[in-house]
Amino acid sequence: MAASDIVNTDAPQRADLDRCVHCGLCLNACPTYRELGVEMDSPRGRIYQMVQVANGAPVTPSYEEHIDLCLACRACETACPSGVQYGRLVEAARADIEQRTKRPLSTRLLRWAVFSHILPSRFHLRIAGVLLFLYSETGLQKFVRGSGLMKLMGKLGEAESLAPTAEPPFFFRNIGRTFPAEGERRYRVAFLAGCMANICFARLNEATVRVLQKNGCEVVIPAGQTCCGALHVHAGIRTTARKLARQNIDALLTRKYDAIITNAAGCGSTLKEYGELLEHDPDYADVARRFSAAVKDINEFLASIDLNPRIGELPLTVTYQDSCHLAHGQRVRTAPRKLLAAIPGVKLKEMPLSDLCCGSAGIYNVVHTDMAMSILEKKMRAVNSTGADVIATANPGCILQLRAGVALHGKGQRVAHVVEILDEAYARGETKAAEDNRSLTAVLPR
Ligand code: SF4
Ligand code: SF4
Repeated sequence: MAASDIVNTDAPQRADLDRCVHCGLCLNACPTYRELGVEMDSPRGRIYQMVQVANGAPVTPSYEEHIDLCLACRACETACPSGVQYGRLVEAARADIEQRTKRPLSTRLLRWAVFSHILPSRFHLRIAGVLLFLYSETGLQKFVRGSGLMKLMGKLGEAESLAPTAEPPFFFRNIGRTFPAEGERRYRVAFLAGCMANICFARLNEATVRVLQKNGCEVVIPAGQTCCGALHVHAGIRTTARKLARQNIDALLTRKYDAIITNAAGCGSTLKEYGELLEHDPDYADVARRFSAAVKDINEFLASIDLNPRIGELPLTVTYQDSCHLAHGQRVRTAPRKLLAAIPGVKLKEMPLSDLCCGSAGIYNVVHTDMAMSILEKKMRAVNSTGADVIATANPGCILQLRAGVALHGKGQRVAHVVEILDEAYARGETKAAEDNRSLTAVLPR
């Protein structure tokens, strides 16, 4: 453990807690309060409990439960007029719980395997990807789902329905490569490909690279990159998160980039907060701040540049679900809408409460499946009310959750990342240009 991983900074800080004036204006924005109507499961109630613990009250199972049931969606941060940084508080509270309590052996083993050995390791992720692929392709998944076994397995069975599918060939094969800009190079960007996304969202990552190339970007996929640590931060495992942050900084800051791009809102939020994560590390504090300043969500980056206008027409009605960590964590709301509006033929229909969490929240839907599913059901009512045939969003976790929502309560909508829709529109544009060229050649005198 590095000297900077000193534990006492990993608890809610008095100055942050004191910002809350207990006005309650955040309550209605909170999905768990809206579901349960219980003060202790509201932002104000959770802050009150954090204050009690900061004042010396013990960490009780009830405290753990209320902190754990929070989605860390940060909608309360947007609603709060006093500038309470709730995300920072809940992450610190979880880190404090992690240090001061001992979980059951089975939970500790599972967390150790997932957070320390699978997510940070390309080798282990590949194995997980192959197993996931075999599970769905050999018919085992179909058999398990049809056999009623999942019902007997209770929570684990419910979580299985949310399992992502592997998408070979995995994106890992592109790590370490550089993709040239199409036409004149306007920017050089680094792309962070994520951890699970290399396996389960390999096509989304490829689409991201293509769209960047189309927009004059040379895309470097740095070899030394690793998982961003977002899931670790949300789970209170900050020592490992810091280790991963240092590795990413070392891998990326050796070269100069116009932007460090991510297509996952949850990852982007954490990458933009490396400065905070490493604020007490004398060797990395400055460089982490510089790293964070260079991070851009793909929507944010594309909306900030002159977009390549050769976008083809897509006759689609699209509704956009704000990913919490993009809307509330990064305050990026207009960029994805601007990109969708730039596609000829796309009709954007807003759903009610588009910035209310869909229930995904990292691994929340696996750990708190009942709450996540209840939130999802209401989200799907909002989606269905728009009549849209596509649900666009900006985070892989939200895509999985919304796909489960469509299967359970939807009307056959397609769920896609904004950049995938843009990629299709560019492909359509190219096909149209090629057809126009052929027609022109045919009518020109030889
Ligand atoms: S977090 Fe903000 S909005 Fe909520 S009670 Fe405290 S001051 Fe009021
Ligand atoms: S982060 Fe989300 S779930 Fe947690 S208290 Fe705030 S609004 Fe509620």
